[in-house]
Amino acid sequence: MTAEGAVANNTVGAQHAAPLSDDRVAPRYAEVILPIPVQRAYTYLIPPELAPRVVPGARVVVPVQRSRVVGVVAEVDAAPPAPTVAVKSILAAPDAEPAITPPLFTLGVWINRYYGTPLGLALRALLPGALWGVQRPAGPAEQVERVLALTAALPSLLERERAFKRAPKRRVAYEALEAIGGSAPVRHLVAQLGLSPAALNGLVTQGLARYTEVPRARDPFAGLSSPPPPDLTADQRHVVAGILATPAGTPALIQGVTGSGKTLVYLDVLRSVVASGHGAILLVPEIALTPQTVARVRGVFGDQVAVLHSGLSDGERADAWRALRRGERRVAVGPRSAVFAPVQRLGAIVVDEEHESSYKQGTAPRYHARAVALERARLEGARVILGSATPSLETLHLAATGKVVRFELPDRIGARPLPPVEVIDLRTAERVPGARGVPWTVALDDAVRGALVRGEQVILLLNRRGFATYLQCPACGDVRTCPRCAIALAVHQTPAALRCHYCGHEEPVPTVCRVCGKETQRMRGLGTQQLEHFVGLRFPDARIARMDLDTTSTKWAHHRVLERMAQGKIDILLGTQMIAKGLDFPNVTVVGVVDADTGLHLPDFRAAERTFQLVAQVAGRAGRGPKGGRVYVQTRAPDHHAIRAAAVHSVSQFAAAELPLRTAPNPAYPPHVGLARFVASHEDASRVQRAAERLAAWLVRANSERLSGALSVLGPAPCPIERLKGRWRWHVLVKAAEPRAIGRVVRALGARTRGAVIVDRDPVSLL
Ligand code: ADP
Ligand code: ZN
Repeated sequence: MTAEGAVANNTVGAQHAAPLSDDRVAPRYAEVILPIPVQRAYTYLIPPELAPRVVPGARVVVPVQRSRVVGVVAEVDAAPPAPTVAVKSILAAPDAEPAITPPLFTLGVWINRYYGTPLGLALRALLPGALWGVQRPAGPAEQVERVLALTAALPSLLERERAFKRAPKRRVAYEALEAIGGSAPVRHLVAQLGLSPAALNGLVTQGLARYTEVPRARDPFAGLSSPPPPDLTADQRHVVAGILATPAGTPALIQGVTGSGKTLVYLDVLRSVVASGHGAILLVPEIALTPQTVARVRGVFGDQVAVLHSGLSDGERADAWRALRRGERRVAVGPRSAVFAPVQRLGAIVVDEEHESSYKQGTAPRYHARAVALERARLEGARVILGSATPSLETLHLAATGKVVRFELPDRIGARPLPPVEVIDLRTAERVPGARGVPWTVALDDAVRGALVRGEQVILLLNRRGFATYLQCPACGDVRTCPRCAIALAVHQTPAALRCHYCGHEEPVPTVCRVCGKETQRMRGLGTQQLEHFVGLRFPDARIARMDLDTTSTKWAHHRVLERMAQGKIDILLGTQMIAKGLDFPNVTVVGVVDADTGLHLPDFRAAERTFQLVAQVAGRAGRGPKGGRVYVQTRAPDHHAIRAAAVHSVSQFAAAELPLRTAPNPAYPPHVGLARFVASHEDASRVQRAAERLAAWLVRANSERLSGALSVLGPAPCPIERLKGRWRWHVLVKAAEPRAIGRVVRALGARTRGAVIVDRDPVSLL
């Protein structure tokens, strides 16, 4: 039975009326919101002994059919329900103080209205998961788990051949472990990576690895600190002073080139906010939660900081939440959900790398943390500081229209120049002999070799994981696709499998074509695993580490890799967009973008913007130290404005070229108009098509009858990814210069379709 059905039964069909202890005292009722996809509240009786705690925003335990659910009080002294309705009593009110303060409750209502998400789901996002559990979590005791760690290195391929001559499985285990940073929980190696316990034991008996026991989910940031920060430069001081002189109601944008010292500016602003008795939130993209960033924040705020990273257990998360709610900690640092941290007397919210699409939540409520930060700050009188070297066009538009004040940090710290960028045309540039399908040019090869000879470090970006993008039969042309998604399966080698990057489907690499039976199957499209293999053969003495979603599935694998990079124990760091951002390694003198075009032609209006940001950000990793640096961008589109602007590190040049492409005579797109997307999906292809047609027809009618044509309705059309996890997908887009018109259809459809249609306002992906 669904929770929704259960609730409906509770109010209309309950068996027992709540006992009234004294019929001379008028009973009091509360309206309670349950964390389910339902807009309405449910009425419960307030037992007199709980009355002091049953206040708006308080968590309460209520009966729903035969089970119990945690809900949040929306209102007390609500009108009594109709006499025919049997009402049950609130069972418990666990918190002395309401969990959701009035401004946060209002923020929940704003999310409900702006994104069209049912209020129950909007409020659910405000509290950590553990606080919605009926069994009240006391924070689980620390548990230990078994970890396998490599103890011996086999740097050369020759040693490897020798060590694993008759043990190919052991080699796979060894290399998998190596790729994820040298150690990992046994549970993960067996369950997620499919390695056999026998192969792991074999590594131990061979003296190549050792088992240890460590506390599970240990916080790698605990005890991290750093020396007091350096004095601000004159540029940094001007920006800090400018921000503090700006009225709190006006958000600020720090547009500072890579390496300009934005973090220190945030910290200094926050220091004065905290000194004046307020609290603050620092939002960072998850991947930027590097020990470096956290250490800097700890260096300034010490134990006043709560770090809300994804590795926390439910109990630890709830503990951090309580410490903030009680005001024991004043500063919250974390990814998008930290925008809801119950910081007391909120004075400022910083959104670092504000252009990052990871600030958008992929499930309901589909909020964007930047938009929520702006609204929350407005409600609580706090200031907002957005920062980026490559601000989103949305934020640049707000700056251009005066809704955001822009501060610039045009130079790197220490007057270091931004690294020169060499654009290499892959259509004509000479490749190294034996490169075969790998786009590896002589120019990039020489640059990498030079850096290695000089003892410097190299970063190579390839934004495509796996070994190869797809497997194709050379005889009949058949491409292996996911049986559940309309997408080619990627070829993986460690461990070997064909894998769907959308749903995780896995199957063995076939030896013959399923269509024509031809025996050799050809791999096409370069992925990071293959690049690692290729670079390893090309530079056999180099210490190479790879970082992508496949290597960093263990909680702290990427931290270990970055630590080794910082200690100079890695010569070449290669990977996907994960390595493009936020990293500050002074000894990196060469950055290579192996194929800049991987995302350039996706059917999404932000394809150029994403490419510009990615290339400009990774270029910014080079030349952060006294040795300088140089960037090599390999592309088949050297004249594309995204590539050209990234090559000169110029966001204004990019915006000047891109903004006109998003307005008349071209089809209008954000930031010139608001956008919402409605996605219907179903196992049955014709049903979903009909549903999308009805959806579009409803929108067209609502537009002409009630919105005087303020909207433009696009579609219905199949989504670029037509099928996902076995469901066919169609979408309809609406655009309007007037946000109110979008808000009205978003709310109406959010309520009408009751979760059957995905309602995504300000979508960050149209795939
Ligand atoms: P951004 O985030 O703008 O790319 P960072 O904040 O990472 O830049 O700063 C780049 C580097 O400069 C870091 O190594 C940082 O420690 C250093 N740095 C920042 N501000 C100063 C300063 N005032 N004096 C000396 N070094 C600084
Ligand atoms: Zn799939």
